[in-house]
Amino acid sequence: MYDLLLKGAHVVDPLNGVNGVADVAITDGKIAAVGRDLEGEAKETIDLTGLVLQPGIIDSHVHLGTMWGSPYGPRMLAMNGVTTCLDMAGPLDDILDNVPQYGAGINMAILQFASPPFTFKTNAPSQQEMIDLIDKSLADGALGVKLLGGHYPLKPDVSSLLVKTALERRAYVAWHAGTSEHGSNIEGMMEAVEMADGYPLHLAHINAYCRGAIKNELEETAIAIEKLKANPNIFCESYISPKNGTRLTCDEQGKIQSKVTGNCLRHFGFSEDRDGVRKALLAQKAFVVYDAGGYSDLMTGEAALEMWEKAGSDVGGSFNINPPIPRVQLAQAKRDDGSFVVDAISTDGGCIPRNVILSQGLSLVKLDILSLSEFVQKTSLNPARMLRLTNKGHLSVGADADITVYDYATQTPKASFVEGRKVLWNGEVVAKSATVICTEHGKQAIEARGMKAIVVDPGEQVKRIKAL
Ligand SMILES: [Zn+2]
Repeated sequence: MYDLLLKGAHVVDPLNGVNGVADVAITDGKIAAVGRDLEGEAKETIDLTGLVLQPGIIDSHVHLGTMWGSPYGPRMLAMNGVTTCLDMAGPLDDILDNVPQYGAGINMAILQFASPPFTFKTNAPSQQEMIDLIDKSLADGALGVKLLGGHYPLKPDVSSLLVKTALERRAYVAWHAGTSEHGSNIEGMMEAVEMADGYPLHLAHINAYCRGAIKNELEETAIAIEKLKANPNIFCESYISPKNGTRLTCDEQGKIQSKVTGNCLRHFGFSEDRDGVRKALLAQKAFVVYDAGGYSDLMTGEAALEMWEKAGSDVGGSFNINPPIPRVQLAQAKRDDGSFVVDAISTDGGCIPRNVILSQGLSLVKLDILSLSEFVQKTSLNPARMLRLTNKGHLSVGADADITVYDYATQTPKASFVEGRKVLWNGEVVAKSATVICTEHGKQAIEARGMKAIVVDPGEQVKRIKAL
């Protein structure tokens, strides 16, 4: 007797070569069988005829920390069919504290930001300060650390030492390229690749370095692709939305705090200060992220200016800064061995309102830039491997029954399941809490919070596989 039988969907599971109508049976939260017209009784049978069913969507770059928009990140992800996510900044305690009230039954891995002015006092912390931060973050349930170099940079040699120190401690390490010497652009990306020095590194949102800040955007994209081909130790994602995510905070002198916001203001012809933000908001070039009650949304124009001033400038923001062709080329590019240059499609969403893997990502399939099987590989199988989740990203018998179901025609999610439990159902999030993907050091802290922990070892090597 199965617990759940999902019947008649078009099932896409690249690892197992499945791409057609099939039934999926689930028992005890695991995949029990996949095949045409499965026999056998089930406690619950759901007819999914006409819909696509894939291993649960894994968004490998999101933000769940309230400071980036609102506490509704988990719900916004679940509403968009995501079952697992990698948070790329923390703050760790804020995210974990919010799980009882705002968790939506999804799996989350969290990287604590290793950046001034938040978790380091200066842009040149000592190695002991790094070790203290990494060890405490892992013990508290983080999977690793994130360098927010683009926004809040460290010195280059300090960034390099931080990456190596984190790897030595078998922490996951991701870097939004940029240092005190180079910005969040193609130069910063090349510098980060050099600084990684052959060690495995998750380099965040490659598209963000191909916005035409230094050279022509297509030239930058070609450089990024060549650099990644030559450095297979770099694992990465890029996103599909035209919108970025940043903060619009100004310091006491009225200067903009985030370097990325500075780049955006300059790009649109505004000054990198309080006056520039004011003008950009009124010109509807800058957007404020606000809590719309149950989700976060974007606002621009006069109302946004009012909100930004009321908050003393300390709010999340966004600009339409990503040109289209680099996003397409980065989604499609392959290595000589047939694997993807950019491993995964992400959103940089979560509580920043652009959880568009289905609503925009499926357009790549309709435009024949990716096959549906390749789309599934970049939105589930590859990011599962990056997170060392051997039991996710595929529908092998015995794998976790994490599943996303969607309408291909309208590019909308219809249902999702995490370990066989309904998460998105009838247009609502029906699950609570969260499962936290952490290292062996954080298991106890997560369980003490009453959450389930999945323990992985970020020190394990990831083997890249060719597009299936
Ligand atoms: Zn981000």
